[in-house]
Amino acid sequence: MTTRRLFMLQLSLGSSALLAGQSMAQVPTLVETDAQANALGYKADSSKVDAKKYPAHTAGQACKSCQLYQGKPTDAMGACPLYSGKQVAMSGWCSAYRKKA
Ligand code: SF4
Repeated sequence: MTTRRLFMLQLSLGSSALLAGQSMAQVPTLVETDAQANALGYKADSSKVDAKKYPAHTAGQACKSCQLYQGKPTDAMGACPLYSGKQVAMSGWCSAYRKKA
């Protein structure tokens, strides 16, 4: 492969990665005041969950260890199918939490 073709391929791959990064950055963040988030007791910080209202919640539970979390373990935010089109915090929690096997 010529140097020029290799350069064009790298440029193309780099542009695709940049576009993918931009699209994730444009996905809105779920806020606790969202109607569905509020109904399921979502908190962006799992340590702020109301223990009286959600006695099943335990320390250490967070989106990053939930079966529904679609972000990478190293991502601060990730998608959750319960809140379509929005990202949840990896340190968040809601009452639909299910620990990964
Ligand atoms: Fe987080 Fe799981 Fe609730 Fe989605 S279902 S917000 S990943 S705890």
